Amino acid sequence: WRINQKPVFVRAPAFGDKLAIIDSSGSYSYKQLYCSSLGLAGRITSALNSDFGGLEGKRISFLCGNDASYTVAQWAAWMSGGTAVPLYRKHPESELEYIICDSQSSLLVAGHSYAETLKPLALKLGLPFLTLPPTSNLGTLDRADTQEKETTITDWADRPAMIIYTSGTTGRPKGVLHTHSSIQAMVQCLVSEWAWTRDDVILHTLPLHHVHGIVNKLLCPLWVGATCVMLPEFQPQKVWEMLLSSKAPMVNVFMAVPTIYSKLIQYYDQHFTQPHVKDFVKAVCKERIRLMVSGSAALPLPTLQRWEEITGHTLLERYGMTEIGMALSNPLKGPRIPGAVGSPLPGVEVRIVMNNTSNTTIVEGNHRETRVRAGLEAKEGELLVRGLSVFKEYWNKPQETTESFTDGGWFRTGDTAVYKDGVYWIMGRSSVDIIKSGGYKISALEVERHLLAHPDIIGNTWRPTPSPQACCWWRRCQGIRWARSTRRTSCDTSSHDWTKWICMTTHRFLVTSWLFPSGR
Ligand code: ATP
Ligand code: MG
Repeated sequence: WRINQKPVFVRAPAFGDKLAIIDSSGSYSYKQLYCSSLGLAGRITSALNSDFGGLEGKRISFLCGNDASYTVAQWAAWMSGGTAVPLYRKHPESELEYIICDSQSSLLVAGHSYAETLKPLALKLGLPFLTLPPTSNLGTLDRADTQEKETTITDWADRPAMIIYTSGTTGRPKGVLHTHSSIQAMVQCLVSEWAWTRDDVILHTLPLHHVHGIVNKLLCPLWVGATCVMLPEFQPQKVWEMLLSSKAPMVNVFMAVPTIYSKLIQYYDQHFTQPHVKDFVKAVCKERIRLMVSGSAALPLPTLQRWEEITGHTLLERYGMTEIGMALSNPLKGPRIPGAVGSPLPGVEVRIVMNNTSNTTIVEGNHRETRVRAGLEAKEGELLVRGLSVFKEYWNKPQETTESFTDGGWFRTGDTAVYKDGVYWIMGRSSVDIIKSGGYKISALEVERHLLAHPDIIGNTWRPTPSPQACCWWRRCQGIRWARSTRRTSCDTSSHDWTKWICMTTHRFLVTSWLFPSGR
């Protein structure tokens, strides 16, 4: 498995006038994005009194909306030699400050609409600050004097490319440092496995501070010369409009997290009630769309099944994380097993090891084959991953970095997996989210799966008035949330029979309060 380690933008000049990004402000060709990025890179380097391309080891934090300015800021950070640190527009000021300070950024770049958000922080922290023109005027960044400087950097591979912060499910978000080669390994592995081509058009609706939104949905299409249609934010109505629109270029690839699919299903159920509309939706989705992917969290079975009924597509579920990119995926062609996450992607090696100090290997696999240790068939254990897409280190956290790798360079994902029926299944987190009830250990993910499989719990709507029975639910939910937030490995809430308790419930409010704490 060999990869081209140069960053995505090196191919942009060759794609020339091909449309790279369509957003709410207009359409942008590869050439336009490339030239604007060069111009911004020139400004970034001058602001830091450096030579063009000379910012190796400097972090540049940027805050942009879901539009072409995001790509320009990211490419400019790379062209200037620096490390890109994407910030998220919905993060409160304290979170933005945490990331800027934790990453020790040297300069801040704000998309036009976010200047007011970042400026006070730049002043407070004494950092140089650049504001981009409105996205439709990105062309004004293009400067002739920087054009010939594009080739000054040649040694891309081990250069730090991006610090992406984890979701913070198990504690404060950690800065995950990826090099250009680990990013490109993620990109090229997915491009080959999911057969990206320059004729593809993807609809982008996800935040741009996670691997899912950055790599899978933006860098992959930009590497092959495809087109990315970016919505400013997720709105079910808008997504359906775009998926069904016959205006060129028509969307043929869609990727999202499970909650987005359930919100799209809800919208469909409420608005597409006429039989001929349903037929139209199914016909268009089946004919036009070649790939629909789900990931970042377990895909509930009812969502998978309902989506299949509505669109005729079996969602392709895959498993990945900030530190490793995508590791396991159901196949593009061939059977997709509901609830499973498929097999290792090209270039990825996996192991499942006993969840105890012995670290006995239960399963060892790669893209071609998986071997199971005799006598340990269908045993669960912690999933370990090794490969070119694995991150370099947790930024400024040497101890956490060391602890997260075993001898031999295997990254401990902290997720429990099992190999069964020829595919891998994710069972939950090994380190957290274990609920102890009546002496039994219960995976919170399993609880989540049961809850989401309940016919009354689809999406995140709820009955407005909880009953006394629901209040009892609420207290238990609080117990689980508390366990998650304090990172305790277990929480003995009661000796209640959880499965019965789960099946009895019909109160969506309480369930969703737990499933989506603090709006995640
Ligand atoms: P932190 O590391 O800060 O606690 P996080 O692990 O939630 O946060 P991410 O890297 O965004 O941050 O998420 C990766 C996690 O998402 C994986 O470790 C896994 O638990 C979960 N995940 C991703 N895809 C799937 C999937 N298909 N099925 C089940 N879980 C998944
Ligand atoms: Mg994690």
